[in-house]
Amino acid sequence: MSADADPTPHPGAPPSPGPLLLFDIDGTLVRAGTRAHRLALHEALAQVHGVDADRVGLRVSPAGRTDGEIARTILLDAGVSAERIDARADAVREACCRAYARLCEPDLSDCVVKGIPELLAWLGQLDGPRLSLVTGNYEPVARLKLRRAGIGRWFPAGQGGFGSDSEDRAALPPIARRRAGPRGRPHPRKQTIVVGDTPRDIACAQADGLRCIAVTTGRFGADQLQGADAVAVDARELHAALAEMIADHLPRAPE
Ligand SMILES: [Mg+2]
Repeated sequence: MSADADPTPHPGAPPSPGPLLLFDIDGTLVRAGTRAHRLALHEALAQVHGVDADRVGLRVSPAGRTDGEIARTILLDAGVSAERIDARADAVREACCRAYARLCEPDLSDCVVKGIPELLAWLGQLDGPRLSLVTGNYEPVARLKLRRAGIGRWFPAGQGGFGSDSEDRAALPPIARRRAGPRGRPHPRKQTIVVGDTPRDIACAQADGLRCIAVTTGRFGADQLQGADAVAVDARELHAALAEMIADHLPRAPE
């Protein structure tokens, strides 16, 4: 059996770990506030590659893509070779994070999706569920964005999967599960749920064999989010969908 396989529990085995919830950020927790993020990435591309990203443009939607993937798409279209992109990927990431620290709006609390602070507070006081992230944002960008939005405290350091870990979003859930497990043993797939707003969130969950709750608080409607195990139009429906999936870990009603 590979180290990543979900073992069958045997009698007397310790109780299974609580659910690991992997939240996307843009369109899921935070509704907007991406202008400074885009400016920071463009500034990094100008600084490191001398490329004017505004002139080149982005021929694909950035929704659900990692920062590194967006940078690569722009750079390839500007005629930069794949080798040069690879060689300077760390420099682009560092320049972007530096620029974002300077450009990020001081208060993003108005950009938080309605009802999300209450949802996180509810999850945070439950005994069991663990809150984590799977986002295409470079990690320092993600952490600062959530801090300025006033919801960073729910997502512990050292956890999650970020655009700084891989350009490929499908690689991020296994990274987040590995960070959540004890001694490098990945958190079980059956106990992991991805929450995101794009078909790419659903695809990355499916690539790792995970359940996914899609939310329509980003750019996509329910008809574009097929393949998710549940679709929620707002935080109230997300609460209900999560409650159903993590029912084993909710406090029991008095008999
Ligand atoms: Mg998103």
